[in-house]
Amino acid sequence: MPAPIVIAVDGPAGSGKSSVCRGVAQQMGLQYLDTGAMYRAMTLAVLQADQDPGNADAVRALLPSVVITSDTDPAAPAILLNGQNVSAAVRGAEVTAAVSSVSAIPEVRLAMVALQRAEVSRTLSDGVGIVVEGRDIGSVVLPDASVKVFLTADPQVRAQRRASETDGAEVAVTQAQLQARDALDAGRKVSPMTRAEDAVEIDTTALTLPEVVEAVCAHVLSARGQSSEMSS
Ligand code: C5P
Repeated sequence: MPAPIVIAVDGPAGSGKSSVCRGVAQQMGLQYLDTGAMYRAMTLAVLQADQDPGNADAVRALLPSVVITSDTDPAAPAILLNGQNVSAAVRGAEVTAAVSSVSAIPEVRLAMVALQRAEVSRTLSDGVGIVVEGRDIGSVVLPDASVKVFLTADPQVRAQRRASETDGAEVAVTQAQLQARDALDAGRKVSPMTRAEDAVEIDTTALTLPEVVEAVCAHVLSARGQSSEMSS
């Protein structure tokens, strides 16, 4: 029996990661972990405690009291903060504006990466594979992932996708916000957003969601075929 597969998917906001990862997980019978939702839940905890997300000491002090859990069913993924389902709340504008500051704090990353690895180990020990999406999954969190994908898309298309998900959002404003977040995520000192050397890059600009899901599944199947040929 081959070991359960681990698929690492990284890329900037609006590149289609979440929909693609859920689609791939559903098509291939895998679990799905959204690591961005974990950083968002930590940020929500900071805001709920009336702390300044830019104050690293205040954020660090909150860490021991924050319990973040993920439901990894790709048909109904959820993020829980101290037992409460906060899947909708973590998508709010205030969390989105503050999340890059919180996620740049090294101790926050250490805690989240430990949680992410524990979630993956738990799933694999049940004999089930997993698709994990984020910014540093292929490079830092799971450098031994079976397959690594980096999704990109034209910034304007990414902004259009995000704006269409939010009532009244203007594409130009959304594009400026996305680019500011990308710059913070790619420029931070600890595990910045990056394409792992061995990741395959897929530009989703001109592709539909089913086309990207198909492309990722085809890549997974061919990578698996190659590795079983190599080990036989
Ligand atoms: O994927 P999503 O846009 O929900 O991620 C929210 C934020 O969480 C990112 O902008 C980034 O600051 C942070 N993040 C991260 N590392 C990850 C996943 C997300 O720093 N692996």
